[in-house]
Amino acid sequence: MSEEKFYFQTEAAELLQLMIGSVYSNKDIFLREIISNASDALDKRRIEILKNSELAENANPEIKIEINTDEKTLSVSDNGVGMSREDLINYLGTIAKSGTKEFLKAARSENKELNEDLIGKFGVGFYSVFMVAKKVEVVTRKIGTEKTFKFISDGTGEYTIEDFPTRNECGTTVTLFMRDAKDEEDSAAKNYLDEWTIKEIIHKYSDFISYPVIFKDETINSRKAIWQRSESEITEDEYNEFYKHLTNDFSEPLTHIKINAEGSTNFKGLLFVPSRAPFDLFMNPQSGGVSLYIKRVFIMNDFKSLIPDYLRFIRGVIDSEDLPLNISREILQDDPIIRVIKRSTQRKIFGELKKLLEKDREKYIKFWLEFGRIFKEGVIQDKEYSKKILEISLFRTTANDEWTTIGEYKSRMKPDQKGIFCLAGRDSATALKASPKLDSYNEKGYEVLLMTDPVDEVILSDLRFILPDSEDRLLNISDSDVSAQTDDEKKSAEEKIKSLENDFAPLKKTAMEVLAKKISDVKLSLSLTGSAASLTGGLSFQMQSLMRSAGHNVPNSPKTLELNAEHPVVKKLMSMAKDNSEKVSDILKILYDQAAILEGALPDDPADFAKRINDLVAIAIGE
Ligand code: ADP
Repeated sequence: MSEEKFYFQTEAAELLQLMIGSVYSNKDIFLREIISNASDALDKRRIEILKNSELAENANPEIKIEINTDEKTLSVSDNGVGMSREDLINYLGTIAKSGTKEFLKAARSENKELNEDLIGKFGVGFYSVFMVAKKVEVVTRKIGTEKTFKFISDGTGEYTIEDFPTRNECGTTVTLFMRDAKDEEDSAAKNYLDEWTIKEIIHKYSDFISYPVIFKDETINSRKAIWQRSESEITEDEYNEFYKHLTNDFSEPLTHIKINAEGSTNFKGLLFVPSRAPFDLFMNPQSGGVSLYIKRVFIMNDFKSLIPDYLRFIRGVIDSEDLPLNISREILQDDPIIRVIKRSTQRKIFGELKKLLEKDREKYIKFWLEFGRIFKEGVIQDKEYSKKILEISLFRTTANDEWTTIGEYKSRMKPDQKGIFCLAGRDSATALKASPKLDSYNEKGYEVLLMTDPVDEVILSDLRFILPDSEDRLLNISDSDVSAQTDDEKKSAEEKIKSLENDFAPLKKTAMEVLAKKISDVKLSLSLTGSAASLTGGLSFQMQSLMRSAGHNVPNSPKTLELNAEHPVVKKLMSMAKDNSEKVSDILKILYDQAAILEGALPDDPADFAKRINDLVAIAIGE
């Protein structure tokens, strides 16, 4: 088999087309992308050799850049892992990254040429070479194999792979056949065959690459691990470039956290809070993570044991001085040094987040909007930190339209308040604000925290267990034993309701028959003011649908229908029920559906609901 023709996967072909037509002004990044791939390939080679020492070759790992101005080619060679024929098809002929698919979706909807903003938002990797090259050849030999292959593509819909006389060592050479600068519409187009241009790009984007990047027999990059340098000498640009190299994220990080631990355990770290969540962060608890280095040597990516699951959005590098270089991955998981590093890293992250909240609220809100949901999972996962997490959590509130912390809530609390009132459920604060459960709190001027994330409900239901002796009592106003009323008020309400018992009995009987499948009880209440009915108790509808969509069986969770004893509709209903009116059951069904809608559920039978409302409207307008 000498030469075989392949077609790019549809998405890959589309992306290539976009690259060829690109007007993106920062084309320099193509070189960063290939150097970054070469550096990854050298990391992977190291790991292969660790697993199987027979694979070791004598050559020192390096990345070499060459230009040929006659042929108009620029090539980047590495002696990394290399690729097999299948790898070429799977990695270069196919788009595997979900982010790239999202990128294409966004580009399609823009329905125009790829603009700067889009390229800036997504990593597009290898394909970016077609912004500057009219043809690319990749010659590669995979570690531990004898055969060398050559991949050729001109960026149209197809590519070829052919056998190639063998390379002396494993690794990859990517050769770009550059487009003529004069072919470019853009007169400012750079000449990427120019020595100074190349050096400048390497300095700018690839300085911290830990392998030598050699051009014209000179090592161009300083190779100084950025996390080893002192904070005062690192520029914001350098942090940003390092972050992009590490994560493949094209946007700037929100903030960075530098760690310099000295004492019984010595390590350095450079961590980042990204400015946006990657596409799979919520679905995939395995995504993200921190890379582990030992004495500046890369050991592994995405090491989960370094950081708790609920901080998995944090990216970066931890470099230990104390661990032995030849330590096995299995041992690493349980190593006591790793545990110490984890604890102190966690402490540092919390300190920095707290500082951010205090010093730059706007940035903190950005962080919260992207990652708050995940961060709060920690309240349940990590008891030691539950309280600290709640302390720097942001919530919506009935008091205003801003975000608030529990501390700020406390400063506004009424003197007689016994705890922090909370209401969970629904997916937006605006929807939650319409809940009849808030009636009595609004009337009395009590502020209530509105908790709209799925995890909030779990937090509230487990709170007594999570924070058994916290002075910041979070009180779930959906709980039957939490109320806005004072003891005296409760007592007189109970007496009043008791006095209505006989009047209520016929209505109660009908309601229990008509709504038998939906409710476990029906009660009169004096804590509703505006609304006629409310549903309390049981799992919220939001939680039920979440559990259903996650494939769980939803436990039977019947609710109590509370009817407002002072509402004219309820008063009238009581007397209608006494007279055995047929309309009572219809109206009860409407009240139930209304209460369910206010809790964020749809009526079980929307058509039936609409019909009953129409019938009522007809009566109201005298039809
Ligand atoms: P990314 O690097 O973000 O995964 P790319 O499009 O840049 O995406 O590269 C796709 C894949 O091709 C890489 O993940 C890697 O498996 C493979 N690859 C690219 N360049 C090299 C190289 N120089 N050596 C070995 N494999 C490479």
